[in-house]
Amino acid sequence: MDNATLIAKRNLRLGVGAPLFYQQPLQIVKGRGVELEDEQGNVYIDLYNNVPCVGHAHPYVVDAQYRQAGTLNVHSRYLHEDIVRLADRLCALHDANIESVVFACSGTEANEVAMTMARIATGGQGFICSNKAYHGNSHLVRQLTHVPTTQTHNANVRSIPFPESFRPLEAPNQAYTDGMPGQAYLAKLDAAIADFQQRGVPLAALLVCSIFANEGLPDIPEGFMQEAAKRVHAAGGLVIADEVQAGYCRTGTWWGYDASEFKPDIVVTGKPMGNGLPLSACAASQDLVNQYRERTRYFNTFASSPLQAAAGNAVLDVIENEGLESHVADLGAYLKQALVGLMDNHPQFADVRGQGLFLALEWVKDKQDDRSPDAQGAVEVVNQLKDKGFLTSNAGAYSNVIKIRPPLVLQKEQADRFLTAFAECL
Ligand code: PMP
Repeated sequence: MDNATLIAKRNLRLGVGAPLFYQQPLQIVKGRGVELEDEQGNVYIDLYNNVPCVGHAHPYVVDAQYRQAGTLNVHSRYLHEDIVRLADRLCALHDANIESVVFACSGTEANEVAMTMARIATGGQGFICSNKAYHGNSHLVRQLTHVPTTQTHNANVRSIPFPESFRPLEAPNQAYTDGMPGQAYLAKLDAAIADFQQRGVPLAALLVCSIFANEGLPDIPEGFMQEAAKRVHAAGGLVIADEVQAGYCRTGTWWGYDASEFKPDIVVTGKPMGNGLPLSACAASQDLVNQYRERTRYFNTFASSPLQAAAGNAVLDVIENEGLESHVADLGAYLKQALVGLMDNHPQFADVRGQGLFLALEWVKDKQDDRSPDAQGAVEVVNQLKDKGFLTSNAGAYSNVIKIRPPLVLQKEQADRFLTAFAECL
């Protein structure tokens, strides 16, 4: 079906607001590794999709799913070794305080589990998030979406400005000793905690993406997350790391919280876990998970299934067998350095941030005079890159960041082809 007809039918059957990428939307019919093919046979390098983390249609993962689907798939009220093995393997990838797992089917669901778990464990109701966060779309979780720092109508949610070094808040009052990291942001956190205390709302948790991905992948002031976690704990709250985007070697280390140097109490994972099969998890100490299970009797029809287990274990096998953690660290460092080298050539290309195979290219109106964000400029680059066969998107707090986040199996030769195309766009 041609694209114009398909768009018209889609608008009728799915509703007009269902988002699409690109000025000329793509009809993708096939994927293999980091390549995607459209209905006319044009091939694109996928520099955007983190869900198929070990590559589109990875044969090992497809085979594991096919074999399991042909053997058994059933809900979780029967014993099955493989789901316990997946939980075992996940816990082994974290510190010793992460001992048990609640599986779910989406990042939203796993964040909802985490928030409820934090409320049960602390007896608190209050959540602190960043002002440009996205953690999901359920009634509870979406209350943390783009919450203005001035918000007061929701008594249980307060936001703080996301910590960044490109457009930092001014250093605040002198109450903080010199050299204390990210003090302006920590002052905002203190204020949010104090506000809850004043209004008699006990704190449940700080919930943040470990690398502030949706915010635009900022350079987080050194030590900020560690100190923030300390203050949240002192106020009786827990720290929830949303690793839906940050986890699974995306930054060149297993977890974004390693890259940002803090220790969460609860870890939420999703997108890459099943390489496309819906699979997510909320992991925490046995005590936290037991309290949660006891109070909620949580059951999720499609979660903890043998099919989820097959996909989840196969993804972990591939990451281990193909050495993707170090591959991502090495190729990511190479790509970042090459992109930094291109910055001088362009008045609007102002910053390269991120780690591993998750990079953010900051687009501004004019980096000499005015660092104000240029979302339209970023969109133009994204569309030019698409026409050259490279799929990216614009994102971040100001929609002015070009997001480079390919499957983890991107190869150096493909990265080089992208660098050439991007240099031509500049
Ligand atoms: N957390 C983060 C950081 C996300 O980026 C997203 C989705 N973009 C979610 C949670 C929600 O995940 P899902 O769409 O699977 O519900």
